[in-house]
Amino acid sequence: MRTYRGISVSNGAAIGEVLILDNRGCRLSRRFVDQHEVDSEISRLNSAIEATGDQIAQDRDSVTREIGEEYGHIFGAHLRILTDKKLLHDLEEPIRQHNYSAEYAVSEVFDRQADILRRVAGTLYSERANDVVDIKVRLLRQLMGVRQNSLAHLDRPVILLAATLTPSETSNLDRDNVLGFATEEGARGSHTAIVASALQIPAVLGIGHFLADAQEGDQVILDGDKGLLILNPDAETTRKYQEIIDRQKSESRRLSSRSAAPAITQDGTEIKVFGNIEFHYESRICDINGAAGIGLYRTEFLYLGADLASLPTEEDHFEAYRTVVEAMGPDRVTTIRTFDLGADKLPPGFSASDVVEPNPFMGVRSIRLSLKFQDMFRKQLRAILRASAFGPIRIMFPLVSTILEFRNAKSIFLDVCEELDEAGIPFDHSIPIGMMLEVPASIIMIHTFVREVDFFSIGTNDLTQYALAVDRGNKGVDSLYNSEDPAILQLVHRAIQVATMYDKPISVCGQITSDPNNTMLLIGLGLRHFSVAPGVIPIIKELCRNVTVEECERIAKNVLSKDTASDIRHYLRHETAKKLGTGWTAEE
Ligand code: PEP
Ligand code: MG
Repeated sequence: MRTYRGISVSNGAAIGEVLILDNRGCRLSRRFVDQHEVDSEISRLNSAIEATGDQIAQDRDSVTREIGEEYGHIFGAHLRILTDKKLLHDLEEPIRQHNYSAEYAVSEVFDRQADILRRVAGTLYSERANDVVDIKVRLLRQLMGVRQNSLAHLDRPVILLAATLTPSETSNLDRDNVLGFATEEGARGSHTAIVASALQIPAVLGIGHFLADAQEGDQVILDGDKGLLILNPDAETTRKYQEIIDRQKSESRRLSSRSAAPAITQDGTEIKVFGNIEFHYESRICDINGAAGIGLYRTEFLYLGADLASLPTEEDHFEAYRTVVEAMGPDRVTTIRTFDLGADKLPPGFSASDVVEPNPFMGVRSIRLSLKFQDMFRKQLRAILRASAFGPIRIMFPLVSTILEFRNAKSIFLDVCEELDEAGIPFDHSIPIGMMLEVPASIIMIHTFVREVDFFSIGTNDLTQYALAVDRGNKGVDSLYNSEDPAILQLVHRAIQVATMYDKPISVCGQITSDPNNTMLLIGLGLRHFSVAPGVIPIIKELCRNVTVEECERIAKNVLSKDTASDIRHYLRHETAKKLGTGWTAEE
């Protein structure tokens, strides 16, 4: 039995069998073939090259159509690399000479090329190295009969262990069979972490090197509450964890049975708890768990589907939004955030090498990308407006830094409204237009935004990254990534105060709200609208019913007098444990 400690990003515990995804995103098991298999191995390689070429050509055409020729060209370059005669010779040779499997040959040859390119100084060559890796991964997926959705259809329950998982890979996991996952890389604020909590499976990231110690088929325990991975546990540990899992299940059944009732504090203030969703099917979980509506629909996940042959069409958008709106019914609003793509969330059509930016979280991300690729943006706005004829919707722009950005986005929206009017397409003409507060500048300037913006939602995940200058996805600085840092709480407090003074609805949808340890603090800071991961709605509502606003204000005052995030967290954990009692499995 060996225990590894990582960063806990999604609660709960699971026991299961290991499935390993190697660090290149592919499962490579077979390395050699028998002599009599050599010819068929080479023809397998050639068919895979042909099919991969078709796929790249399709991507080239759809990307050229959707976002322009300059991006389509990148796929043209990939095609030329793939069909290079010297490369074909280099791939076939180790199969003939050393009986390598086609997968192993592809892996070796492409890795060698990428290493050479990386060693040549200059970013242009390292970009080419990324291209080579990208083609290799496509080819391997083709060879193994697996595309990006290889983990979408598993035949048995597993706990997935990987070097790293991208948000798009995570969002395509088989929800019935992946019991949890652990990775060597990754950090608390990453979108992979957010998707894990959306899937309601335990997840531990940033463990560091451990994959070499694990083998497929090993037994493993994943403790998402304490951030532990236990390989080959002994019988006593397994029994203890089985008990924890059973207890958590019965606690969750108890809370669910009360989740439909409103969350009214003991001194009579109603706290509205909305759900954050990434996928349309989560609206059902929000409904079952008694959500007041959808506070954040991260629509960029529509672009991250493994099965996408091209970017989503207006109809794809419309169908997804209509499903959510209908699940919420006529009395609960759906807040649709326009796509927040870029940085770590790139659609399959934009492989990492297409949008190479020295510092992507500071680059063409989010609303900046929408303003740059206006056709994509307009298509989404049309679909949202059409869906607004089926139930209440609010539109929210992400990562707005300046009022000009907000005005530009809004003027495109007004233009789309006009277009729909001219075409006689019905939509809600009084649809509210809001924005995320996740760049510190927007909170500093909130007194300007209140004049033009209908509602706000504070995104503490990015706010933390930008205010503290800490990369949310970098495990090397994870200990510095604290949304409970006093500086962040001051910003949150100011935003709530100003918005409330101007009578503008404000919520918080960053992960800070999904941790019940922070519920009393946020109520005390004046927050009345929470937007949280669907799985924690029942426990947050239950906690709200057990507190008074007065005691929350006292707690918030104490918190604001503290100097460090760790003092604040420790204090809040202690206060929350007093309310939630023994069933509460807070991080230790
Ligand atoms: C945030 O930044 O807090 C937020 C909710 O947006 P995302 O996590 O999707 O970047
Ligand atoms: Mg954000």
